[in-house]
Amino acid sequence: MFTVILCRYHEIATKGENRRMFEEKLIENLKYHIRTLDNMVCSRVRGRIYIRRKDGQPFTEQEKNCFLKTLPRCSGLESFSPAMECEASMEGIVRLLKASAKLCFEPFFEKKSVVRFRIRARRSNKQFPLVSREIEIACATVIEEIFGEDRLKVDLVNPDISIGVEVRDENTLVYLNTYHGSGGLPTGSNGPVLALLSGGIDSPVACKMIMTRGCHVDYLTFHSYPYTPMESLYKVRKIAAELNRHQKPGTLYACNLSEIQKKIRDVCNPRFRTVLYRRMMMRIANMICRKKHLGAIVTGEAVGQVASQTVTNLGTIDLAAEYVMLRPLCGMDKIETIRRAEQLGTYDLSIVDLPDSCTVFAPSNPAVAAKPGQIRYEEELLGDFSGLLQEAFDTMEITVDKPEDELF
Ligand code: ATP
Ligand code: MG
Repeated sequence: MFTVILCRYHEIATKGENRRMFEEKLIENLKYHIRTLDNMVCSRVRGRIYIRRKDGQPFTEQEKNCFLKTLPRCSGLESFSPAMECEASMEGIVRLLKASAKLCFEPFFEKKSVVRFRIRARRSNKQFPLVSREIEIACATVIEEIFGEDRLKVDLVNPDISIGVEVRDENTLVYLNTYHGSGGLPTGSNGPVLALLSGGIDSPVACKMIMTRGCHVDYLTFHSYPYTPMESLYKVRKIAAELNRHQKPGTLYACNLSEIQKKIRDVCNPRFRTVLYRRMMMRIANMICRKKHLGAIVTGEAVGQVASQTVTNLGTIDLAAEYVMLRPLCGMDKIETIRRAEQLGTYDLSIVDLPDSCTVFAPSNPAVAAKPGQIRYEEELLGDFSGLLQEAFDTMEITVDKPEDELF
């Protein structure tokens, strides 16, 4: 029955001269997300992208399931609808409604005596004899004739079923459901970045947010083996694999920070340990960005969340970074972050309780306002630590993790 996936974008439409580049990136990403289906074509029509089978036949159930599973992860895609197609005529629209109404309404009639519905029509084809409002009324009348007026109620605000009709120059589309994409901009339309990925709830959410701003994300994680178990790293690898469902897989760099941490523990004031660790993390991140041509460092920090994330400490940490620091969660409420992590599918992985590198030798009373001058003094006590950094960098494990069930 459904022969087209009608793909909508939003933010891309605000682009001027370079809109075409964004649309092409989005098409590339759509193709990537449905890569297990090799019989599809994507085409661009004014303001929309269509996915169809090469042979023009209706999608199979399996193909439809693949779209529903993979397309919500696609950045730049605002929403999509499996749609039926006909010529631009009211007879054609009525035919499609009659063919699909039972399948669409019956499941609701099993649960409710009165089903609330609405018709939303758009008419970009100005030759079409009816205006949008008239198309809506004509379609609603067809539905009422099929099921009887007493079993239906038109509800424009909170319907059980929202039927869409788009009358365009080249064809007319009728659809029964609209699903969300990830919104924003297509991954790859902006420069690639490096995200500091921990086993916590926040950093995976930050990664996804920055993907939807158009950046491809590679990941850097720190562990402190043998002071943290290898399980802590395996956990992060699983999170990276889950995130890689949302983009062409990013590389995970896993760096052992323990030798540097031991040196800091032995030489520096314990109150500054966390800020000192984090500045070392930035230096390793700088080295990767430089080598791999990544343009920014992303973290899951939120202002005020913990001692190392006070405004003063964030500022002092920033001074060790040579690249722009992106903190997409900086003003976000933790409850909202948790909600996004659940939606993303990383929450259940993140809440597995395992020690993080940041908490190794952590003091009970960390400094909440480490000034740059104080930290510079502490770092001078360490002497030349470039060898330690190089050693940590040279011994990094590099993996590209993918989900075990990578069917789609
Ligand atoms: P949560 O706050 O949910 O425990 P988190 O990942 O935000 O998780 P924080 O301790 O708040 O953990 O760390 C702030 C940020 O610092 C993280 O979002 C992450 O970007 C970075 N970070 C912390 N620990 C590590 C680590 N072991 N490896 C890489 N990055 C880390
Ligand atoms: Mg956090």
